[in-house]
Amino acid sequence: MANTITDRCLENNQQYAKGQSVHESSHPGKQPIQPTQRLAVVACMDARLDVEDLLGIKTGDAHIIRNAGGVVTEDTIRCLIISHHLLNTNEIILIHHTRCGMLAFTDDLLKAGLEGDEGAETLLGQATGRSFVSCQKSSAMPSAFHAFRGQIEPLDSPRDEMNTKRLEWDVRRGMSSILNHPWVPTSGSDAVTVRGFIYDVDTGKLDEVSYPGDMGSIG
Ligand SMILES: [Zn+2]
Repeated sequence: MANTITDRCLENNQQYAKGQSVHESSHPGKQPIQPTQRLAVVACMDARLDVEDLLGIKTGDAHIIRNAGGVVTEDTIRCLIISHHLLNTNEIILIHHTRCGMLAFTDDLLKAGLEGDEGAETLLGQATGRSFVSCQKSSAMPSAFHAFRGQIEPLDSPRDEMNTKRLEWDVRRGMSSILNHPWVPTSGSDAVTVRGFIYDVDTGKLDEVSYPGDMGSIG
């Protein structure tokens, strides 16, 4: 028995993983500006994730905030504050996924490669299978790429214990960033809930990440 919209999305996801998507793509007609399921989803931009399909939601149900990694950045927080306080959402779902590109580089490595470091260019070429071409210029922006913590691995590596742990670390960091933000209420009548998940791009299934917990090591 589903208690929350998030629980219902998890039930829908079990159907989706069996090849029975609940999502209908027809235009629903006139709708309110407020998401009807009062849901906000933060997810990676990865081409293999169809957020509506994998959660079984439809147009008008939710705000969907996507970026490289599904990272809780300053802009993600900006969107979530507007989503909740102005547009009435009260459940947040955070989704990272297996085989994520954010496991395959570090911020320092990418910056060095972009600026012309030959060693970094070689490493990035090996990691991605694409010839990395340096721009030979520096820039203050973006200030961070938010690559995931831990030992990097080749792009699109299959799921294993270590990379699952690295994904869990970053989901928890994102949850912590949201839950501890002074403008995101987590108690009282206006409270929002935040739950984090790892989506398996091979099976279509979501696994919930426990919180609080380990948020990682740079070693
Ligand atoms: Zn990703």
